[in-house]
Amino acid sequence: MMISYLFEFLLVLLLIIANTTLSAYIPQFSPSFGKQIMKENAWKNKLDSQLSSTEIQNLSQIKKFLSDFGYLKQDVEWFDNVLDNETISAIKTYQQNFNLKVTGNITIEVLKHMSFPRCGVPDLNLDNGFDTPNVAWPKGNKWFPKGKKNLSYGFLPGSEISLEMMIVLKNALTRWSKATKVISFTETKYDDADIKFGFYYFGNRTEDVIVGYTFIISQQNSKRKSGEICFDGSESWVLPNDDHIWSWQIDFETVAMHQIGHLLGLDHSFDEESVMYPTILPSQPIKVELTLSDNQNIQQLYTQFNPTSGYVRCFSFFGSSYGLSSSLLLGFVFAFLFN
Ligand SMILES: [Zn+2]
Repeated sequence: MMISYLFEFLLVLLLIIANTTLSAYIPQFSPSFGKQIMKENAWKNKLDSQLSSTEIQNLSQIKKFLSDFGYLKQDVEWFDNVLDNETISAIKTYQQNFNLKVTGNITIEVLKHMSFPRCGVPDLNLDNGFDTPNVAWPKGNKWFPKGKKNLSYGFLPGSEISLEMMIVLKNALTRWSKATKVISFTETKYDDADIKFGFYYFGNRTEDVIVGYTFIISQQNSKRKSGEICFDGSESWVLPNDDHIWSWQIDFETVAMHQIGHLLGLDHSFDEESVMYPTILPSQPIKVELTLSDNQNIQQLYTQFNPTSGYVRCFSFFGSSYGLSSSLLLGFVFAFLFN
């Protein structure tokens, strides 16, 4: 019950911040929701005045989010709260990519979408993000030697990968192997592996939404590279044999399929049905089967000669439906409002 009231309270604040019409949202909630809105007039006045200026409290966190995922190129230590043209442009691009109403403003729709669990690999500007030259985001399938058809994989020793999770990962590799028609995978020791799986505890607040990511690292003193797939050790993971997935849980196989896709050369797709869609939408908590376009994209990399494209980016736009079920929404909105 406490959580329910907290949830509604946060929604009230969200709606006020976004300055959106309430009529579209009220039917989803109890009658007390409207009364609470009346009680929050003081907040509304305060936040309205912020929206009318170019400086918005805690906008810096949104700018950090936009920077982390490639929408804002500002290379700074910290972000200010000024709604500048570059930020407006970044918000518009985010809205376009995710088929949201393009306004350039931080709407409730944008905040909701930003709060959904997602992949840590940026959607754009994959050359940015790492200070060390031997680490990079995956871009295409060029990180392993050309012509190499068998990739080895290993599990981080001491990591929390259970036997059941290993089976899920092997099944995901098999599914991708069939899709490429040419790549096979063999298990080996972690240190020797081309693809390394492990659980890690991610750090800062923006990363609250990140459930996994992948990067390429060049080994010290050698030209050999490996692909690291990192799963968030703090998530509540669900496995295929579990008969139910709660709103705060994350399907392990879904994230595994997505991250392996990165290592095989696929970039994010903005087709909601694709396994390479960056975000886990509440309406699609489980997504493990490759779509027709996923298959075409991967086969283009492995079975067709394509000299101009190192990787495939797919811009398709579909209608969206959103639920307010993610506990991550609460955390992210809290961070935005109260820090
Ligand atoms: Zn991704």
